[in-house]
Amino acid sequence: MHIWSRLQQPGRSSRGAQVAAQSPPALAGGGQSLDPATRSPTEGRFGWDFSRIKVHADSQTKPRVQRSGDGNLSRLNEMLDRLDVPEGEVIRLLGELTSTEKQTVLSDVSYRDRMVAALANSEMADAVDALGATLAVKLAWMAAEGTSYDLVKPRIQAAPAVERGAVLGDRVLLASLRDGLWWWDDFAKCMELLGRTAPDVTALIANSEVERVLETAWLKSNPGVRVVPVQKYIHEEGGWIYLNLITNELVFQTKEGGPDSTSLRLPPAVEDSIVVGDFHTHPQLGPDFQRPPSPEDTETGKGNGVPGIIRTEENGQRKYFFYGPPVRTHLAGGKFRGWSYPGESGGVAP
Ligand SMILES: [Zn+2]
Repeated sequence: MHIWSRLQQPGRSSRGAQVAAQSPPALAGGGQSLDPATRSPTEGRFGWDFSRIKVHADSQTKPRVQRSGDGNLSRLNEMLDRLDVPEGEVIRLLGELTSTEKQTVLSDVSYRDRMVAALANSEMADAVDALGATLAVKLAWMAAEGTSYDLVKPRIQAAPAVERGAVLGDRVLLASLRDGLWWWDDFAKCMELLGRTAPDVTALIANSEVERVLETAWLKSNPGVRVVPVQKYIHEEGGWIYLNLITNELVFQTKEGGPDSTSLRLPPAVEDSIVVGDFHTHPQLGPDFQRPPSPEDTETGKGNGVPGIIRTEENGQRKYFFYGPPVRTHLAGGKFRGWSYPGESGGVAP
């Protein structure tokens, strides 16, 4: 099941792994003077006496850099470095740290990495709560561990709007949240909770990129009045409008052939994106043709659950008609796949 979820998102990479790879390696240090075997040739070569140089040590068995000589932080380090980490005690101790100590822990990725190694998903959620982390840091640490929608949802809901906004603007964090949650729809629900919304039909038609794509489709349709003998192939053109949930940018896919090739069919998959609208042209301008939405357009638009736009012309003027609902209601849910039409329900609520 999980593998299928991954396959739903073509091109998705395991960015959690990359984040881990970018983190500094475990801190190194040493508890003893440099050993004689190391010292002698070195001293001989450079003529210096290294015997007085010592590396800080707070553990004989697991050397590391000593942290600001504090009792609770030392206890925390000891616990995190044990083979069998006492998770409950770690979380309790995190809550007892002073706010300065909490900041020390939160600003040091080695703590995050050791907690990822030691704690389970729900324990990591308790740990970031105990540390009083901002929503961005909570989500980053939980995503690094791997998390679930049930754990993320209440933390997003409890966060101040300014913290939700900060998360929405952090593309790297959003990508790691996507990977940490695993299921695309869980990520889409989180994005809705964070405040991301699909553009409604008014916003779409006011968007210059949408206008440009519609004009391109219009011109490719060879709009006009059919004359015999036929010299210009007048035909419908169409496509899909997607919202990339991470970048908040619109993405387009176009297709020759109008609704038969667009709204009646499965939209192509676009990475990190959901369908928020579709469009086609009505380029037959002769008196025998109707320009408003056909009964099929109206029916299909209702079933697809996203706004539809028709680009046509009346009395020599550009004219738009609309079908379907004015906006995609929810970011999660798809009739066939995560990126597909949400269906008449408008998607799945968070
Ligand atoms: Zn139509």
